Amino acid sequence: MLPHESGEGAGGGATARPCGICALIERCRAGEFADFVAELPHSFVILGDAQFYRGYCVVLARRHVSEIHLMPPADASALFDEMVAVGRAIALATWPLKLNYECLGNLEPHVHWHVFPRFEADAMRAAPVWIRPEAERKVALEDSDRRALIQTLAAELRRQVSGARVATER
Ligand SMILES: [Zn+2]
Repeated sequence: MLPHESGEGAGGGATARPCGICALIERCRAGEFADFVAELPHSFVILGDAQFYRGYCVVLARRHVSEIHLMPPADASALFDEMVAVGRAIALATWPLKLNYECLGNLEPHVHWHVFPRFEADAMRAAPVWIRPEAERKVALEDSDRRALIQTLAAELRRQVSGARVATER
């Protein structure tokens, strides 16, 4: 889940305020977001804030659009390929039992994919990630671990996706 999707103020009507994901992309572009992983041709990839699921990433569509079906089909396909590349990178970095992909956007109607690794040691592994209380899933990694994980994910995305600009280059 993104920092601004905590639910606070969510009742105010998403259309009445600026898009939090567009703002986040601007922070990534400016080099001001510590959990930036990679800029891909159709998306920005960040490490998510629920690192109970170590390796969890969010894939943000580069352009503001509220629904996948409203994207030009070629762009939607390319975004899908990038989301799959992120899943593969997470799998290679963390060797999970299973990956979960979710595209919700109820709080931030700007297309983004949550890509979660699920692990054997998780007693709630059969349930959706959101069932786990927010206080338990929103774990921050120790800083050196966080940086190393971002570098590992970034290196794999650079290997997989032509045109990728990754955290190491910024
Ligand atoms: Zn947006």
